[in-house]
Amino acid sequence: LNFTGKVKTGFAISGATFALLAGVLAYNTVFVNPVIPDDEQTANIVSYEKKYRQTYESMAQPSVIDAEFDVNIFASERSLELSGLYTMQNLQSHDLDSVFVNLPAELNLVDLSVDRPFTLIVDDADNKVKVLQFTTPLKPNEVVKLNYAFDFKPKGISAKRQASRIFHNGTFLDVEYFPAIGFSTARLSQSDKLRDKFNLGPAPELAAADDKNAVMKSAFSGDTHWVTSHYTISTDKGQTAISPGELEKHWTQGDREHFVYRGKRATVFYPAIVSARYKVKEAKWNDVAIKVFYHHRHDYNVDTMILAVQKSLDVFTAAFGEYPFDHVRILEFPRFSRFAQSYPGTILYSEAIGFIANLEPNKETDLDYPFYVTAHEMAHQWWPHQTSASATKGANMLSETLSQYSALMVMESHYGADKMRQFLRFGLDRYLRGRGTERDKEVPLMEADDHSYVLYDKGGIVMYALRDYVGGERLNKILRDYLNEFKYAGSDKAYPTSVGLVNRIKRNIPQEYQYLVADLFENITLMDMRATEAQAKKLDNGQYEVTLKGLVNKNRMSETGEPTVIAMNDLIDVVVFDENEKVIYLKKHKFDGGDFELTVTVDGKPANAGVDAYHKLIDRIPDDNSVGVTMASTD
Ligand SMILES: [Zn+2]
Repeated sequence: LNFTGKVKTGFAISGATFALLAGVLAYNTVFVNPVIPDDEQTANIVSYEKKYRQTYESMAQPSVIDAEFDVNIFASERSLELSGLYTMQNLQSHDLDSVFVNLPAELNLVDLSVDRPFTLIVDDADNKVKVLQFTTPLKPNEVVKLNYAFDFKPKGISAKRQASRIFHNGTFLDVEYFPAIGFSTARLSQSDKLRDKFNLGPAPELAAADDKNAVMKSAFSGDTHWVTSHYTISTDKGQTAISPGELEKHWTQGDREHFVYRGKRATVFYPAIVSARYKVKEAKWNDVAIKVFYHHRHDYNVDTMILAVQKSLDVFTAAFGEYPFDHVRILEFPRFSRFAQSYPGTILYSEAIGFIANLEPNKETDLDYPFYVTAHEMAHQWWPHQTSASATKGANMLSETLSQYSALMVMESHYGADKMRQFLRFGLDRYLRGRGTERDKEVPLMEADDHSYVLYDKGGIVMYALRDYVGGERLNKILRDYLNEFKYAGSDKAYPTSVGLVNRIKRNIPQEYQYLVADLFENITLMDMRATEAQAKKLDNGQYEVTLKGLVNKNRMSETGEPTVIAMNDLIDVVVFDENEKVIYLKKHKFDGGDFELTVTVDGKPANAGVDAYHKLIDRIPDDNSVGVTMASTD
């Protein structure tokens, strides 16, 4: 937490802002800062794939069902002792004869064993892989315990080497610091250049939604489903150590602080530990305790974050159902990364993207992003913390797009419907920029995996448009029913797919809106909407008659990105604003493509008129959607 001065970040939500779970999917996405691997790392990436992919990629693994972590952080020395016990069960219908373990790259292995006879058939120090083969195979439902211990003692290993996440003040042990079970597709390279050079074949892709094996795996943790996690942590005196779970005990002994966190319910398997000297601000939402842990000089946006948590709980519990924990914690971590990430009941937030943002809320161009990011991360407590997607194409739509949509609902509830025009335009601009710089090819929303501009920016607009057309209550009921069907599903019930959710939407919206599903989710559709002329004349009764001319066309993008104008008979907003930008007319009209001319009657004096002026649909050139109204001269 080495903040030195106020920075002005304004409107820029960087690509790294909304990190999602860094599991199977996310590791390859834009949310991990693209690090150019050095030769040794490249060699390891390649040899990991060459040695293990063929044998282990689809080999089922024992599922972790309970995890205990015992961690001693020596912040002043930047050293660490970490041990743990994974209780694992064979949840397959066949025997399992081994367990594949990825060891934490930075740590030194002290011990790794299971509580039944085994042979170490792979012991690969370069790739940090061990495979333990059981002497007698693990039968279905049988349980095995994996014990491990690691440490990091910089003096013992090399005086120069430092751990990248252990700091004097601000340690954050993320998922990379814990052993992971099973071959990790996250460790495969997505770079075509590197894959070509080493003859690795095409980049790995997620399975199709109808893949019967893939739907039984979590997008984030493979064969591991829902895990209870418990943490016993000690750290330097004066520091607070925090992990997911309910705080059971805290005591100080000598120069050490001790903490015990116990997970009361099974959650996604996503360990994390943070330790720092924190200031704490507390608040409540009903019986939920809200705490923000922050660096004492970084209090600028703490109240905003608390307000966003409270508003999110209001909106999401009403729309989707109960919040599963009795606490919400927001933890600041140092700026070695710029992202915010949701863990069960706990949100980790880089100091670089919220805590030190200097915002001017009244300035038109400033999106209040500490509020927005907090709402988005809170939404992850529903998506995917209660409904993990299956390891199939489109999995991220079920977490990121739903979280974007949910966050927009909070924005609307807090800032009012009028402000949505600004938020949607912001997302639209980012989407258009994103597709403009796409190096590979754009895909429809329901197939997007690492296309952040599709998942977040287009996704938010798409869901918001759908809400606007079919009604918020109807759409939220669809999402609530989806959540209830898949809540904590896994192991014995297939996880959800993006195809499943899209089909559910189709089944539950009226016939007249079915075209929207094809336009928004299943295809890449871009509108050309233009207002060219608006004339008004005052009527004898004091009202005004506005005649609006323009053009509306719908384009469908081909596989190769070529637009084709397609037939349409679509409902699109016609909006008229007065001089104060107040809406005096807002109604959907039918457009069948090409030039149009229409006339509406409004009460106030019109100043501006247009089509889709709120940017609910995706328009290639959004600036020409509205036009100034000229007054017809009266005789
Ligand atoms: Zn997210």
